[in-house]
Amino acid sequence: MSAEPLLEERLIKRSQQKKRTSPLNYKDRLFVLTKSKLSYYDGRAEKKSRRGSIDLSRIRCVEIVKNSGEIIPCENKYPFQVVYDTNTLYVFAPSHYSRSLWVQSLKEEIKDNAVVMAKFHPQLWQDGAWLCCRQAEKLALGCEEYNLFGDITRKPLPPIPGEERKDGKRRPPPPLPPGPGEEDDEDEEEDDDEEEEEEVVVALYDFPGTESHDLSLVKGGEYVILEKCDVNWYKARNMYGEEGYIPSNYVTEKKSGNLVQFVWYNKHVNRNKAEELLRKEDKEGAFIVRDSSTPGAYTVSLYAKSAAGEGVAAIKHYRIKETPGMPKQFYLAEKHLFSSIPDLIDYHKHNAAGLVARLRYPVGKEDKSAPSTAGFSYEKWEIDPTELTFMKEVGSGQFGLVRLGKWRAQHKVAIKAIREGAMYEEDFIEEAKVMMKLSHPKLVQLYGVCSQQRPIFIVTEFMELGSLLNFLRQQRGSLNLGFLLSICQDISEGMEHLESNGFIHRDLAARNCLVNDAQVVKVSDFGMTRYVLDDQYTSSSGAKFPVKWSPPEVFNFCKYSSKSDIWSYGVLMWEVFTEGRMPFELNPNHEVVTLVTQGHRLYRPKKATPVIYDIMQLCWQERPEERPSFSKLCLLISSALECDTPPT
Ligand code: ADP
Repeated sequence: MSAEPLLEERLIKRSQQKKRTSPLNYKDRLFVLTKSKLSYYDGRAEKKSRRGSIDLSRIRCVEIVKNSGEIIPCENKYPFQVVYDTNTLYVFAPSHYSRSLWVQSLKEEIKDNAVVMAKFHPQLWQDGAWLCCRQAEKLALGCEEYNLFGDITRKPLPPIPGEERKDGKRRPPPPLPPGPGEEDDEDEEEDDDEEEEEEVVVALYDFPGTESHDLSLVKGGEYVILEKCDVNWYKARNMYGEEGYIPSNYVTEKKSGNLVQFVWYNKHVNRNKAEELLRKEDKEGAFIVRDSSTPGAYTVSLYAKSAAGEGVAAIKHYRIKETPGMPKQFYLAEKHLFSSIPDLIDYHKHNAAGLVARLRYPVGKEDKSAPSTAGFSYEKWEIDPTELTFMKEVGSGQFGLVRLGKWRAQHKVAIKAIREGAMYEEDFIEEAKVMMKLSHPKLVQLYGVCSQQRPIFIVTEFMELGSLLNFLRQQRGSLNLGFLLSICQDISEGMEHLESNGFIHRDLAARNCLVNDAQVVKVSDFGMTRYVLDDQYTSSSGAKFPVKWSPPEVFNFCKYSSKSDIWSYGVLMWEVFTEGRMPFELNPNHEVVTLVTQGHRLYRPKKATPVIYDIMQLCWQERPEERPSFSKLCLLISSALECDTPPT
C-alpha cells in the first residue's frame, strides 16, 4: 500500500556538489512520491533504474527556493528544496503549479516528522556559499524561520480539474508499471554514485578562445566539464589536461540517445526549412533528420531526384516509428528494426529498403556557422574600443547611429553609438550584464559595451539583412506562406526564451526584429525602452509610444508583462502576414485606443489562413490571463507549419 505513488513527474535534479570541486549538473529524472519515500529514476524509457531514494522520515524541510534573479541553467525554472539529514536536494519543476503541488504534497507527508527544522535557507547553496545569507558553511543555521504549514509563495494551490475527491484529497495517479532494474526492497540510502560521474561533451564547432582563461575547442573533440559557471559558460578540460572556459552552446553531451552529435540531425529545422534546404542541395538521397511536429518523435526528410517520374524531384517525410514493447526498437520500414536511431540511419545509408532513395547526403549542419556566444568570454562585458574597427553605417534609431564593424579584426559586429542625452546610461550599463546572459539562437546577442568613454558603444551580433520591417516591405509579393510562418516561429522561439527567464520585451514589433544572411529572424532591443530618455516615446500619450502594438492594460495603466508582449506578438504576426503594412493604417493613436477599447481588432490579412488569424486573435484577448504563453504559441505555430504542407 505504501508503495502506491501519490505523485509522479519528470523533474530536473541538481547534483549535490558534495565535493567543492565537483561540477554542478542538472539531470532529468522521473520523481515518484509514495507514503514512505521520495525516489527518482533515470528517465530512459528503455531502462528505468532507480538512482536515489529518500525515506520521508529523514526529511527535515521542504520548501520552494527563492530566486533573486539568477538565471536558472536548466529548462525547468521552478526550484524547490528537500533537506534530509545534512543534505539538500534541489529539484526543478516545470511550472509554478507543479512546484506547489510537490512542495505541498511533501509537506503533508512530513508534517509529523520529529526532525523538522526551525530555520532554513530560502535560497540556493552555490559555489561554496548560501546565496541568501552568504554564509560559507554548508551546515550553517538557516537564516529564515521555517513554516511547515505554508508555502512561501503564499499562493493557494489551484484545484486540479476532475482530480478533486469528496474527502478533499488528491487522487493519486495510477500505479507505476514495475520497470526493469526496480526492486522495492533495494538499499534505501540515496544512491549518489552519479554525482561523481564525469560529464563528457563533444564540440559542435571550433571555438578559438579569445582570452587567456578560455579553452579552445576543436569541432568533434571531447572535453570534460569541470564546472557549469552559468548557463552560457562552462569550465572544461581537454585531453591534454588544459583547462579553461568554453561556451556551453558549442558543445553537446556525449551519450547514447543524444542525436545532436550527429551531422545528419538538425533539431531546429521544420518541414518547410527541410524542404528548402534539400531543394537547394538538389542531390539524390540528400536527407535531414529533424524533430517531428509531434513532441519526442523524429522525421527523416529525404530528397529523390526522379521519384515522381523521370527528372521530377520529390521530397518524402518519414516519421521514425518505435515499437511499443521493451526494449524499444526503431524503424522506418516495417521489416527493419534497430535498437537505436543512429543504427537505423546507418542501415538506410546503404539500403533504401522501402524508402524512395537511400540516405546518401546529410544536409544542413556541415556548413552551419558557429552560433553567437554570450559575450566574447566568461564574465566579459566591457569591450576595449581600440579593438573595434568601423566599417559602413547601417542605420539609425532612437539611440543613435548603428555601424557595421569588426572586433579584433575578425568578428563582424553591429556597433551602436549612443547619442548624448538619449539614454539612462548608468542604468543600462548595469542591466547589460544581465542582458548578455540572455543567449538564444533567435535573440540578437549583446556582446558587450564600451562604457568608459562618451559616446558609449553597444556591441551586438550583426544582422546582415537589417530590420524585419524593411525586409518584409522589400520582399513583398515574393514570400510564401511557409516562409511567413517560419518568421513567426523564429520570433516566438526567441520570445519564449525571454518569457522563461522572466524578461519582458516591452516593444516587440517588426521594426525591432532583425534578419541575418541565412534569413533567420531574431528579436532585438529587448527591454531597451526602459532606458529611453524621451517622453514622446515612453509616455503612453507621447507621439512615439507604440500604441498600435499595445494591449489596453499597457496604454491605460502601463502594466507590462509577458502577456502584454503576447499582444504585441499578435500585431507583429499581422505585420508579417501583411508583409509590412502599418497596423490601423488610417487611424491616429488616440483613435486606436478607442477602437481597441471598444473591442475592435486588426482585420485578417489576405495571406493569413483562418488558422493563422485565430492565433493572432488569441493574442488579442482583452484579459491578459486568457492570452496564450509563448511556449503555447510555439506549439501553435509549429502545428500551423506542419498543416501548411501536408505530409506525404
Ligand atoms: P535604436 O535602438 O537606436 O532605435 P535600432 O536598433 O532600431 O536603433 O536600429 C536602427 C537600424 O539600424 C535598424 O533598423 C537596422 O536597420 C540597423 N541595425 C540595428 N541593429 C543592427 C544589427 N545588429 N545588425 C544590423 N543592422 C542593425
